[in-house]
Amino acid sequence: MIKTSYYQDLTKMNTFGMKVKARCFMEYDSVADLVDIEFEELARPVLHIGGGSNLLFTDDFKGTVLHSRIDFIEILEDCQQISSPVLVSVGAGVVFDDFCAWAAKEGLWGVENLSYIPGEVGASAVQNIGAYGVEVKDVIHTVYCYDTVEEEFVKFDVSECGYGYRDSIFKSPEIKGRYIVTHVVFALSRVPMPKLEYGHLKDAVESSGNELTPSNIRNVIIRIRKEKLPEPSVMGSAGSFFKNPVISQEHFARIEAAAKAEHGADYKVPHYDLPDGTVKVPAAWMIEQCGWKGRRSGGAAVYEKQPLVIVNYTGEAYPEEIIGLEKRVTSSVKEKFGVDLHPEVEHI
Ligand SMILES: Cc1cc2nc3c(=O)[nH]c(=O)nc-3n(C[C@H](O)[C@H](O)[C@H](O)COP(=O)(O)OP(=O)(O)OC[C@H]3O[C@@H](n4cnc5c(N)ncnc54)[C@H](O)[C@@H]3O)c2cc1C
Repeated sequence: MIKTSYYQDLTKMNTFGMKVKARCFMEYDSVADLVDIEFEELARPVLHIGGGSNLLFTDDFKGTVLHSRIDFIEILEDCQQISSPVLVSVGAGVVFDDFCAWAAKEGLWGVENLSYIPGEVGASAVQNIGAYGVEVKDVIHTVYCYDTVEEEFVKFDVSECGYGYRDSIFKSPEIKGRYIVTHVVFALSRVPMPKLEYGHLKDAVESSGNELTPSNIRNVIIRIRKEKLPEPSVMGSAGSFFKNPVISQEHFARIEAAAKAEHGADYKVPHYDLPDGTVKVPAAWMIEQCGWKGRRSGGAAVYEKQPLVIVNYTGEAYPEEIIGLEKRVTSSVKEKFGVDLHPEVEHI
């Protein structure tokens, strides 16, 4: 069934809590519904949303917003042999964390480290979500889509999805918006495969004293995430607002020399050396060094516990206030470090 409404309030459909409206909003609950939608006739532009947790609506949306309620979790193949993958098909409209909870309850390994990431299954395959050393591409088998140009159903093997860091072909400018993800097949495992190498996860899991099961790892991750990140139902945000910049070694050496002059010779600038000789520097560190951590600007603020996150501090922030703070942070970082920050969050 397709439900259509006009001048739909989107406040509760974006985790930033921007009070905006969509001229036309269409919600459908089956794969077959997509065939009935006349894409050529829709008010333009057309935007398919999931849980709205990576979006910043900058204004009312003048076109059509689509949303999937395709909601099933189905085991396709489970030959009960411990070493064989368990193929699970999941509708695009399923909340990703509900799928993680289901997998943990079934004792299936693969998505426990991705627990509590906001959003839905369809977008997870677009975004290549990741956390605690795991990316969703590691467990995706096939992505099923509706091609709105050719008006046909198509599928992409994981190797065809062009996955990179929070990236996929579905985000590439040439085809963005063309494919609507209808469902995703994941390959989970009955063989224990805990991934605990990231940060202090191993210590946190060990100190919980519980045995290594998907459920217990999931519970530890949820606890850590709740300590570090704003709960969307309490304080609006879209998670990490900026991408971590990648700079040349020479540029990094200049930043490091300046930081040592400021903080002392033993000071260490956090960074990751990439295989191609460039250096990734945490944007959070740069933002904090510019004095933005916890600072407010109108209804917006840089989150006090994680400066990579911009929050709707008052719950009443206007898009202009979020964008204003984004600009101020970006220009401070440019001035102090000569680095351009780019948003991770999609501006609509
Ligand atoms: C507090 C917080 C913490 C977060 N932590 C993490 C984290 O640890 N790791 C991480 O990777 N991300 C994180 N995020 C970002 C966000 O959760 C992910 O990007 C998530 O995948 C977005 O899902 P969504 O359903 O909300 O998609 P939306 O934000 O609604 O959409 C994201 C993109 O997917 C497209 N899209 C949505 N559904 C479909 C579909 N069915 N077919 C085709 N395209 C579609 C949209 O057009 C858009 O381009 C966090 C966000 C918040 C608010």
